[in-house]
Amino acid sequence: ATPIGLLVGTGRGAQLGILIRGPQVLEDTRKIDTVLLDKTGTVTEGNLAVTSVSPATGFTSEMVLALAGAVESGSEHPIAHAIVAAARATDPLAESTDFGSAPGGGVRATVDGQSVVAGRESWLKENGIELTKSNRENLSAAQATGATSIMVGIDGVFAGLVNLTDTIKESSASAIARLRELGLRPVLLTGDNAAVAKQVAQKVGIASEDVFADVFPEGKAQAVRKLQSEGRVVAMVGDGVNDAPALAQADLGIAMGSGTDVAIEAADLTIMGNDLAQVVQSIELSRKTLRTIK
Ligand code: ADP
Ligand code: MG
Repeated sequence: ATPIGLLVGTGRGAQLGILIRGPQVLEDTRKIDTVLLDKTGTVTEGNLAVTSVSPATGFTSEMVLALAGAVESGSEHPIAHAIVAAARATDPLAESTDFGSAPGGGVRATVDGQSVVAGRESWLKENGIELTKSNRENLSAAQATGATSIMVGIDGVFAGLVNLTDTIKESSASAIARLRELGLRPVLLTGDNAAVAKQVAQKVGIASEDVFADVFPEGKAQAVRKLQSEGRVVAMVGDGVNDAPALAQADLGIAMGSGTDVAIEAADLTIMGNDLAQVVQSIELSRKTLRTIK
């Protein structure tokens, strides 16, 4: 039988724009002590914008952006949307064929007879492209400014970087401060680079030792398991396809309503908006609800 207090709690949740999969979820919520937060689209807006292009020797910015735009047109990632928009602002997109992608890695396709890849370093490597020492120095310099830098390869050669930035949601810092007041430990989890992850963490009040960066999608679920094996009871908050395994593994999976269907399906609880303040409210709601039935 379901205690009546829990049902009241789920009803109140709906009023607050929080959809709870079942009454048991509120019971689970009470026990959590750690909250893992995906960065892109959860702590930040996820509306990335291209800020600059750094071509490698022998390539132009126009060429790198145009080819990256053509290959990203097959992807739904926020990075892809931003690169496509920037490329389209200059020229119509070229057609691409043989599209392929690795979630949390990057994309590849054939554009005008050229083989184009875009993504993180490991993805370029998988596609036979190695960065030189000077390529890597340029990458580090771009990342140090807080950029999410996508590496572009053309016909097996490193061709340059497309640099993007995201904005932190206005309410993220106050919501994270409130999590701390509730005795919860916030942890940032991202597939993005460590430099940008640490800058975001610092701005929202997450300790630099509580940042997991350069994580692959399967690594997100592993991070949850690792904390669980240390005795922690873990909530995971995310929005992307790549967050789904971690949402399912967590003691409590919380999806952003603005996120992908895959994330919502994997979660125990979905907040209707995209605001971390609602994540905090759902935790507070579960505590209040359970107090009334004791
Ligand atoms: P996050 O944890 O920030 O949501 P993802 O796991 O989706 O990030 O992606 C991790 C990294 O993989 C990105 O920072 C980027 O370097 C690369 N990547 C993923 N998808 C794409 C794409 N469509 N184009 C280029 N790079 C991508
Ligand atoms: Mg995300």
